[in-house]
Parts: sequence; C-alpha cells; structure tokens
Amino acid sequence: MSQKLTTEYSPETRLAQALGYVDDSTQGLVPPIYTSTTYLRDEDNQYRSGRVYSRADNPTYSPVERVLMSLEQGTDALLFSSGMAAATAVFQGLPAGSHVIAPTVMYWALRAWLLNWGRDWGLRVSFVDTSDITAIEAAVIPGETALIWLETPANPLWGVSDIAAISELAHHHGAKVAVDSTVATPLLTQPLSLGADYVMHSATKYLNGHSDVIAGALITRSVDPIWEKIRMVRKQGGAVLSPHDANQLLRGMRTMHLRVRESCQSAQWLAEQLQQCADVAQVLYPGLPDFPGHAIAAKQMQGGFGGMLSIRLQGGEQSAIQTAARTQLWKRATSLGGVESLIEHRASIEGPDTPVPSDLLRLSVGIERKEELLADLLQAFAAAQ
Ligand code: PLP
Repeated sequence: MSQKLTTEYSPETRLAQALGYVDDSTQGLVPPIYTSTTYLRDEDNQYRSGRVYSRADNPTYSPVERVLMSLEQGTDALLFSSGMAAATAVFQGLPAGSHVIAPTVMYWALRAWLLNWGRDWGLRVSFVDTSDITAIEAAVIPGETALIWLETPANPLWGVSDIAAISELAHHHGAKVAVDSTVATPLLTQPLSLGADYVMHSATKYLNGHSDVIAGALITRSVDPIWEKIRMVRKQGGAVLSPHDANQLLRGMRTMHLRVRESCQSAQWLAEQLQQCADVAQVLYPGLPDFPGHAIAAKQMQGGFGGMLSIRLQGGEQSAIQTAARTQLWKRATSLGGVESLIEHRASIEGPDTPVPSDLLRLSVGIERKEELLADLLQAFAAAQ
C-alpha cells in the first residue's frame, strides 16, 4: 500500500485521494476489504507479519487511520465500532479512581455513561462549564485530575471551549486533554495542534457523512502510556469496526470537504435568516457574532463554524414539537452530519434530567439547497401555530 501525499498538500486533496492511495500489488486506487479474522503462523512458531487475529487490528483500517492522522496531525489513530466506543476507551485508559472534568452540557449519552458506568467504575467526575476557564481551574485537583474532556462546539447548545488555553492549564497540572471534535470535523479545527492530547470523532457523522455507518475514531499527539492502554481496551474489549464499514467510511471521507463546506455555508445563512424570524426566540450558532464563544470559535475554527445549530421557539415546547412534526424536507430523526438535514426535539430524546431547554430544536444542516430548507422551516412554523 502506498499513501504518499504529505501535509504539503491541502486537506481537500489529501481527502479526495485518500493520501494518494495506490495498492502495491494491483495498482488499484481503492483499498481492498480484508475479511480474514486470522493469520498464518510461521513454521518456527513466530508471527513475523505482526498480525495474529483481527480483533487486535485489521489491515482495512490502515488507510483510513492514516488519513485521520494526516488531517489531525497526530502520530497514531485507532478506529472503533462507534463514537461511544472510542470515547469510553479514553476513560477506560485512565487509572481507576482518576479524577476527570467534563462539560455540563455535552453529548448526552457520554454524559450518561460517565454518570453511571464511569462513576460505578470509580471515576470521579466533575461536570463544569468548560467555556469558562476559571470554572475549570477551580475544578482541577492538582496531581489528581487525569483528564479534561472537551466537546467543542458542544451538543446541543454549541458552547465553545478554548482548546489552547485549557490545554495549557491542564498540562500545567499534569492532566491530559481529550476533545470530542465530531461537530468541528478535522477540517475546521485541529485540536492536537492547539495543544490537546487526544481527539475523538464519532465517524458516524461528518466523516462518513451518509448516515449508513456507525464508527468512531481516536487520534493521539503521542504514543503515551494512556494511548497504549486505549489500544489494549480496543483489542481486549473488542469494540472493533467491521472491515466493510471501515472501507465504506473511507469512501465517505473522500468527499467530506465538499459536504462540510456546503453545510457550514448553509448553516451560517440559515442562522442569520432565522434570527430575523418572529417565531424564533433565539438562534444558537457559533458563527453568529453575538453568540457567546464566537470570538474563541473564530480563533480555533477555520473555514466555517460547523453545520449544527439550534433554535428556541417563542411558542415553547409544544410549538417546538409541532414544528418538527410539520417539516417536509427536514427529517425528524436523531444524529447529525449526514447529507440530509435533520430536525430534532432534543429534550424528548435526552429525558427528564436533560440540561436542554424544552423549547429547543436541534438542526443538522445537510447539503440540500438552503433556500428550500428555510422555506420548509417557515411553513412548519406557520402550520404549528
Ligand atoms: N459525540 C458526539 C458529539 C455525537 O453527536 C455522538 C453521536 O450522536 C457521539 C459522540 C457518539 O457517537 P456514536 O453514535 O457513533 O457512538
């Protein structure tokens, strides 16, 4: 296998060509899918190929992981069977009893995992507003805080955390920083170059982009003891991606720059239009100049502020639910980052202990024509009256 395009080429070119992938044995431009679960031992009982069993690794992952390493400027990458498997592997890579800091408002299933499994398993978790560095500083227990987990922009209020400043603070206290960069994508933000130690993606979202693969990824700045542990968590816990899905993921990634660019432009435009709309009480989007965190987002996001926004409706919860019920183009479904636009009443899915306001709709902006997306929302507002 050869993948020669280095960072002297743009991320767009590296993505489109999967780093210039050429199969050494066939000259194929698309990587093969390796389905073998097991590998032949040498006659003298060695495993010189380095491969034994595909719960540890699968050669189908390599071209995908190399593209991710290149985009995120990391030294190693691991694919997982889901974003949750990738995220929880980071926490499982910490010594039992570690103190960790995580955002008060974050991807709800990971928050739930930290509150349940994480705490049962001995993690001490402090939830703080990570857009406020003084709140983080107050929560750090010097010598005991092992990890600060960030998600930026964070679901579903899109709060922004200052990766560079928080990484400096964390490292001063001997803690690591991991960033769920799913919404920012590797194109808009590179957390490792801002000082973070690990980056996580739900590859289910923008990386794959077509709502047909569940996958996760981690990329590390260096191969440290926590990373070695994370690799063991994947190998022994077995949350491995199917080789077919790994191959399909790479196919999706090759057009990510086009999809993300379109989604960002449409989301920015929709946010501005919706701000003028009498039915909308508030638009939450990091690209709006009056959004708290806009200045930090402008500093650490290049080329757009992402394809995700939320709106709060003047008519409250019922109006939000009715609006989602009346859209034609926007699909009423959970998830994000696909080519089709999705609308979701977030509080309904997150349950009673959610910090999300009940009048909020989360919008994942796809790549349809933006004027048609706006028109659909406007007719849904009118029909929900
Ligand atoms: N992180 C974020 C920001 C997400 O939106 C999601 C899924 O919605 C996840 C992590 C979990 O990813 P997965 O569904 O691939 O397990």
